[in-house]
Amino acid sequence: MSEVLDVAKKDGRWTECPSCSEIIITKKLQENMWVCPHCEFHFRIGAKQRIDLVCDEGSFTAIHLEEHDADDLGAEAEEVLWGGTATIGGSQCVLGVMEFSYKGGSMGVLLGQYIILLMKKAQQSACPLIVICASGGVRIQEGIWGLLQMLRTSNARNATRDVPMITVFTDPTTGGVSASFASLADILLAEPGARIGFAGPRVIESTMKCTLPPDFQDSEKLLANGFLDRIVHRHDLKNSLSLFLRWF
Ligand SMILES: [Zn+2]
Repeated sequence: MSEVLDVAKKDGRWTECPSCSEIIITKKLQENMWVCPHCEFHFRIGAKQRIDLVCDEGSFTAIHLEEHDADDLGAEAEEVLWGGTATIGGSQCVLGVMEFSYKGGSMGVLLGQYIILLMKKAQQSACPLIVICASGGVRIQEGIWGLLQMLRTSNARNATRDVPMITVFTDPTTGGVSASFASLADILLAEPGARIGFAGPRVIESTMKCTLPPDFQDSEKLLANGFLDRIVHRHDLKNSLSLFLRWF
């Protein structure tokens, strides 16, 4: 029996939940928006799937980087962040969705540029901005230029502070993204069980010479300590976003 399971897992028909170890038929998992039906574990999903889950059907129209930025790195920035306009529950918004599977959703110079462009588009069109984050932080290979994006995006957020902004933290959102524009939104939402933080637990433990509780960067802990406004189940995300958009 276990051999049959192994084959079915390998070809993707069945998937094992990393949280409760139940074996789930992948198609059922997909129908359940990649949420484990046994323990509610939220699997990581791609930007395209997220757009399909939250936007009204066919309403997403991509916004591209300006022409002088659209070289190879520009194309890469658009792989890390899917930016565009969309309607959610009939309300218009500018939406950015980060793709963690592409180089850890890292923020380099052109990604910073792209985020700023989305902020400006939202301001010009008087629409709220929603960013669904998933990132390991700044692109460290770009050195100080990568780190500077924290400053640039925070500054741009300050300059467009009349634009209502909603951040949805998904697993994981860490480093320079959580520590810059993402946390400067008006409404901070998160998926259940998402890891959100700046430095990883091992780095903190070795620097502070202490032992951290296993859940200390989980969204539930952050909500309890006032860093988040609400934890939203993936099944309710579209409805919640549409409710908030109607407020603005
Ligand atoms: Zn499970």
